[in-house]
Amino acid sequence: MKILNIKLSGISMLSLIALIFVGCRNENVLVENKKSITLSHEYTISVEKENPRLAKIVAIIEPDGKIVAMNEHNEHGLKNGWATFVENVQAISESGRNLKVVAKKNSSWEIQDYQEGMVTLSYQVRLGHDQVVPKLAAGDNGAAYANDSGVMWAGRALFIAGKTTEDININFDVPKEWHVTTQWGKSKKENSFIVDVTENLLNSAFFAGTHQHAEFNAGGVSLRMAFSGEYTVKVHQQIKQQLQQYFTHYGKLYQSPLNANIVVVVSDASYGGGEMMGNAISLSMGPSMRDVNGLSKGTIHVIAHEVYHSFTNNQLELGEDPPSFVWFKEGFAAEFGTYSAELRVGALNETEFLNTIVKQMKKYQAKLDGKLTLKSAGSEKFKNYNMVYSGGFIAAISLDFLIRHESNGKKRLNDLWVYLLKKHPKNGETLTMPKLYEAVQFLYGERVFAAFDKYISTPDEIPLYKNAALMGLSFDGHILSVSNNATNEQRSLWSNFFKK
Ligand SMILES: [Zn+2]
Repeated sequence: MKILNIKLSGISMLSLIALIFVGCRNENVLVENKKSITLSHEYTISVEKENPRLAKIVAIIEPDGKIVAMNEHNEHGLKNGWATFVENVQAISESGRNLKVVAKKNSSWEIQDYQEGMVTLSYQVRLGHDQVVPKLAAGDNGAAYANDSGVMWAGRALFIAGKTTEDININFDVPKEWHVTTQWGKSKKENSFIVDVTENLLNSAFFAGTHQHAEFNAGGVSLRMAFSGEYTVKVHQQIKQQLQQYFTHYGKLYQSPLNANIVVVVSDASYGGGEMMGNAISLSMGPSMRDVNGLSKGTIHVIAHEVYHSFTNNQLELGEDPPSFVWFKEGFAAEFGTYSAELRVGALNETEFLNTIVKQMKKYQAKLDGKLTLKSAGSEKFKNYNMVYSGGFIAAISLDFLIRHESNGKKRLNDLWVYLLKKHPKNGETLTMPKLYEAVQFLYGERVFAAFDKYISTPDEIPLYKNAALMGLSFDGHILSVSNNATNEQRSLWSNFFKK
């Protein structure tokens, strides 16, 4: 869900690599549980104006066993992960005793003589994520950066957490003229927030500073936005408009049960891309994202792609989220959903859309080696980028054409999403590969099921152009277009594709 490389006609969108505290101890709040009374966890984040690249944190948390840890997936190419930037981790027991803290693997720490209760954990994080050489593998803007307006932090690069818990209090101690934009629930106190559950602390982002803030509510979604940098602030109304448009479109299309607070942090950067972390989206407005008219088509694609994730993948229960599902989330879901949405809202015209299909097909074909399959490609997502993104997209559109043809236009691939979102919602029954197969078979029958299985589990080329012909589209070796010989039924299938 995080990385998105795109190339659009004529525009060199080379690596649109996508992407997305010491304070005072506050009184602990007693939260009544059904069975027991637990103290709620709390973090105070302090940033000083003179030294914005240093965040000092004091956390009152209950360790998980003896362990406290960051949300480390070692995917950004840092040898020591997020812990690279963490300094001076200290722990004090409830009785005021200093506890020995030992750094462990994967950005975690063991509090060696911890026995029970809450600990006061203090540490500092030095913001150097945007300065490391070589650059972080997947773009530094999804981690942390500082600019003239303030600082952006992703939760995973900042927070050390203990046991999973609910209703976490977050306080910011920042310069007077600063404000904080994040997706968390606002508390009564200024610059204070309540995070519903640990997962949403670790998968989050905020911008603290003198940036431009905006927000709107659509459906069950509250969207907050932070804009910084000269160019970004100049085009922020356009970005806001695009976000609104795609939120509304996806909301209707997927009948999404999404009921979420989402933050989008957008800033000028030296490269372009976007990254999604839970309900936080980070967008980097590099030169490739800009256009004389404001936003380039690439930018709109990145925005629509990241927003797409929040409506579908992020609302599904994918359990351990195995690599065999990467093609499904990226190409099959997000790229297909995004390009189709761009056609339907008018961001791409028919010719541009058909050219996009051909381009994606070429990228996918270049990755075919008689061995690699969509399912196996996810174990090396970056190396197999064109297989999981372009290949996933080609599998989806080929299947959608087949489904429309087989059902005389009554069914479409999108039905699968509506079905999965109802059957496997977040925190519900886990969507496994057998369950996905079951859903395809149930919704579309044997022929589509057999095609689906072949597209994703064998190294054979997906018969895109053969399926496109079912819709009355023909490929002359360069261009895909509506065939002069298309029947009325085929023309009607294709015109319906524009509607939904
Ligand atoms: Zn993605």
